[in-house]
Amino acid sequence: MTPTEFEALPLAAPLQRALRELNYQTPSPVQAQAIPLLLEGRDLLGCAQTGTGKTASFALPILHAIHSNPRQVRPKSCRTLVLAPTRELAGQVGKSFTTYGQHVRFRQTLIYGGVGQNPQVSAMRGGVDVLVATPGRLLDLIEQRAVDLSSVEFFVLDEVDRMLDMGFLRDVKRIVSLLPSNRQSLFFSATLAPNIVELAQTILRNPARVSIAPETTTAERIEQQVCFVDRESKKPLLEQLLRGQADAVEGKLTIVFSRTKHGANKLAKSLCAAGFPADAIHGNKSQAQREKALERFKKGLTPVLVATDVAARGVDVKDVGLVVNFDLPNEPEAYVHRIGRTGRAGADGRAVSFCADDELEYLREIEKVIKMPVPRWDDHQWHHEALAERHLRIKTGGGKAPQSQGGRRQGGGGNRRGNNGGTRDYSNASGRQNRRGPASR
Ligand code: AMP
Repeated sequence: MTPTEFEALPLAAPLQRALRELNYQTPSPVQAQAIPLLLEGRDLLGCAQTGTGKTASFALPILHAIHSNPRQVRPKSCRTLVLAPTRELAGQVGKSFTTYGQHVRFRQTLIYGGVGQNPQVSAMRGGVDVLVATPGRLLDLIEQRAVDLSSVEFFVLDEVDRMLDMGFLRDVKRIVSLLPSNRQSLFFSATLAPNIVELAQTILRNPARVSIAPETTTAERIEQQVCFVDRESKKPLLEQLLRGQADAVEGKLTIVFSRTKHGANKLAKSLCAAGFPADAIHGNKSQAQREKALERFKKGLTPVLVATDVAARGVDVKDVGLVVNFDLPNEPEAYVHRIGRTGRAGADGRAVSFCADDELEYLREIEKVIKMPVPRWDDHQWHHEALAERHLRIKTGGGKAPQSQGGRRQGGGGNRRGNNGGTRDYSNASGRQNRRGPASR
């Protein structure tokens, strides 16, 4: 039986109080499934995307255990280790622990690269209950004997798929080898590809498996669309979308994804010049620059954030109404992560992808992974019908292209619930009025 209210879960009073104050009433599906299992001490293999409430699903049971069983922590040690792929995500997870644990006595700190290590070394001196870290800097500090993992009781690997994409496999394995064998381990990934399951098997002991949304399908509540356009038409099309977004009542914020750091800088600059306050975040920016850009974005001062995949990890901003894939990602899993930046915390969101001639192959791979066609949106002057037809031909293995839509500018179809099966086709998708598209404004 899954509890329908947080009150029905056996979580300690200070946690229940924080949840009441946050006005969280109903556990999200991943929380309803994972929390009881974790409170029993089980290891967990979770397939859950960002935006599903997975952070609370592990932070609450861990805080419950820390509160119920307070313990003196040895110098340089931690009771809980959460590994996250990026500093942004580490910061986000740390913030969640602080929020959910605001009435619990516990100590936590963050360890990540790109900033001076001395404050992190000092923070670890007396030991902490919760350490949230990125793998590289953590290993540095372990080698310098500033951190000792021998008393970890709870080990969480968050966004493992991303961690592996970023080349952290060796670091992760090394860190795992330093953990005591008597621990509770939690493993979260948005996708469960065979290499990820293989890694999980080496880390987890008889894990319970929790899967939210079918593996590798796209997040619910996100309206996905693809625009077939020439490369040079992408900018004017983006500006049209942003004009619509500026008029939106809710969800004014937009994240635009660029494949390269240089492209992100250039695009942010040109958007500013066109009157759309924009900022870029990517791996070459300092931590301080990224934090400042994020703060300004959250406040709506620069409502457009141009980001690369890595930099956008861990960006948890509630009011993102639109995600634009200015460039399609060359790995389909990144598409799932990108569009998960919108539609967070129960809100609706829209994700529009621009597909030029040289990106048709990427789109095909994405559709294979999400197991559905992305509905096309061609209600704009830059629509390139021949490309749309080529895409269909590629998908159908070079067969005869289906009937063209006659070049008519039709309202793009809104797929409001992203995982409703793989039986849709483009003719269905493009006939419906898009309630958020510029045509309806
Ligand atoms: P996450 O998937 O952990 O990044 O969480 C996504 C967002 O949902 C965060 O902003 C949380 O604050 C919010 N959230 C998590 N669980 C709940 C809940 N049960 N009720 C309402 N909001 C929630």
